[in-house]
Amino acid sequence: MINITGKRTFFIGLSLLLLTLCASGIQAAGNGGNLEEATPNTVVLTVSPVVEKFSTPIITRSSPITRFTATARPTKTVTPSSTLRPERIFIPAGQLTVPILLYHRIIDGETTNRYEVSLKSFQDQMEYLSKNGYETITPLELTRVLLKGGDLPPKPIILTFDDGYRSVYEYAFPVLKEHGYSGAVYLITRDVGAPPYLTKEQVIELFANGWEIGSHTVSHEDLIKKPALAHEQLIESKEYLQSLLNVEQLTVAYPYGRADKNIATLAAKYAYSAGMGLGITNNHSTATLYFLSRREITSNCDLNCFEKIVTGQKLEP
Ligand SMILES: [Zn+2]
Repeated sequence: MINITGKRTFFIGLSLLLLTLCASGIQAAGNGGNLEEATPNTVVLTVSPVVEKFSTPIITRSSPITRFTATARPTKTVTPSSTLRPERIFIPAGQLTVPILLYHRIIDGETTNRYEVSLKSFQDQMEYLSKNGYETITPLELTRVLLKGGDLPPKPIILTFDDGYRSVYEYAFPVLKEHGYSGAVYLITRDVGAPPYLTKEQVIELFANGWEIGSHTVSHEDLIKKPALAHEQLIESKEYLQSLLNVEQLTVAYPYGRADKNIATLAAKYAYSAGMGLGITNNHSTATLYFLSRREITSNCDLNCFEKIVTGQKLEP
């Protein structure tokens, strides 16, 4: 009799298949090094992962990064909604429809480029979601349900914020809290603590309030253009966040929303639970787990445009 006690066996199927690559692919914003994302007009990439288990990362950590003491995740402290929430509904594994919105900065004043959304617009958008019965879930929740099935609110939505700007803490966080919502913020880990990016303490506070914290790599390199950097960009940022937050499971948002088969394969190999891209659909499946379609909310998206995105209607060109 063979005794295997004490051995943790984990296996991650790394077989990723590129199923579809639309003709023009994703185009970078091309704005001279700004940390902005590609325009998702012709997405794009579907990958078919076979991921058996995500709970154990394949990374071994040689020397732990300094930990903050406030890493324990307390019970959610969000303000409860005054209205009764409808019961959750069981969703079988395989596919589901959830709008995943993408924001960058929230600005208290006039916006100056497409990556900024005014605080007033953001408040109106969250008010719309609240009045129409939407409830936030996180990318990890979506991942779990896609892979295993599970209960979700009747009208789930995911709110993501790329780059980790401090304005997410200053403006988005209080608005979401007011509605009992939480978001997901994808950090450029090298920039944590340096203005205008979130501080470690702010990141920890968001996490403690039910937000998901994910990787936007170490320094926001275009991984398709520089695949040689993918290893350190994906692994070092993951280790940083795992140590900071005392978590194992993380998702990654590809810089500029750009990933190809190679990069998506690496995200799976390095035990990320999912990869966030850009797209034009709210439908997701296990085949798109490493390039989940996010809908960018730009500065000029009014409530009519917002409603169309959230409800999956076609946008006018
Ligand atoms: Zn970015």
